Amino acid sequence: MSQPIKYPFLRLDNVNRPYADELKAACAQVIDSGRYIGGQETAKFEAALAEYCGTAHAVGTGNGLDALRLIFQAYIELGQLKPGDEVIVPSNTYIASILAVSQCGLKPVFVEPDPSTHCLDNENTEKAITKSTKAILTVHLYGRIAKSSELTEIANRHGLILVEDCAQAIGADENDIKAGAIGHAAAFSFYPTKNIGAIGDAGAVTTNNAELAQAVRALGNYGSLKQYHNIYQGFNSRLDPIQAAMLGIKLKNIDNENKSRIRLAEIYNNEIKNHTIIKPAQTPGRHVYHQYVIRCLHRDKLREFLLGNGVETAIHYPTPPHRQPCYKEYANLKLPVADMLAAQVLSLPISPHCTSIQQAKEISEIINRFQP
Ligand SMILES: *Cc1c(COP(=O)(O)O)cnc(C)c1O
Repeated sequence: MSQPIKYPFLRLDNVNRPYADELKAACAQVIDSGRYIGGQETAKFEAALAEYCGTAHAVGTGNGLDALRLIFQAYIELGQLKPGDEVIVPSNTYIASILAVSQCGLKPVFVEPDPSTHCLDNENTEKAITKSTKAILTVHLYGRIAKSSELTEIANRHGLILVEDCAQAIGADENDIKAGAIGHAAAFSFYPTKNIGAIGDAGAVTTNNAELAQAVRALGNYGSLKQYHNIYQGFNSRLDPIQAAMLGIKLKNIDNENKSRIRLAEIYNNEIKNHTIIKPAQTPGRHVYHQYVIRCLHRDKLREFLLGNGVETAIHYPTPPHRQPCYKEYANLKLPVADMLAAQVLSLPISPHCTSIQQAKEISEIINRFQP
């Protein structure tokens, strides 16, 4: 008998309402400009994103999956990766991370995460390195960066390319280095639900490598930097100026947005006191809580109980990539940590535009009443 939703998980109209006037004005300006692909608005956002992350370059893309694919394809075009090379990937990530690797003809090698951080386990990573390993894709899952200096050291020691999937982690940092500036290249997504959401699809690549940035830019533009001169068999995946103009408005506010998420997370951390529930571990650095993810052995029962009390939750993610029908060739892999996490994780409402501090306290009280 579920009640009406009193505590929604996420409402995107709420998320954008505080920005609506500015967003509409930005759209009007692009419409009036007559320039609908590339141009000043896209360049301005790319420069602002690079400055924010602390990298020399940022290149807008059509979405986050393409940002990842363009990075791997650019390394192939530059001769630093070749089809068949192994890329280490976390076994518990969103499918897009893996799709980017396999779609470029590279071989994903699934490595189990540290269950306390949900990020790649460095010891497991080092054990998985073979002479075919050429890159590591680290995913700052849920908005947390974990043990990145050790991972960077492992990548350097083995001569591996380190790519970051920052889709969930804009503004996160560790050792005062921001997501996007840790590896050799990084991919961002501005899918509407992310900490910075576009009004549609959008993404970006950040890097300090000028040659790589140029290859990514060319590949996203039919393989061309100069009109009618194609150096690669490229794609069409560019950041529209209308999205760039709106993302620029959101980027100015990202630190406040993330602070509000962290404040809600602190409420949950302090108020949830139920011994059947594992709360997110506390690690150094800034966790930006794209998701606030708890674990429970009785997850499905807990989720039902919460819904019965008007609390909407989500599961990120119910099925790990190696169990997806599209990756049948990996179905026999033994990845017990990924399977365990898929069975136990539950994401609580954490959007500051949908959940107030008072509501987070009430949700915590409801959770504390849960008995399996
Ligand atoms: C959202 C997401 C992506 C894909 O981004 P899109 O913009 O939706 O293509 C990739 N990796 C992770 C970890 C994500 O959360």
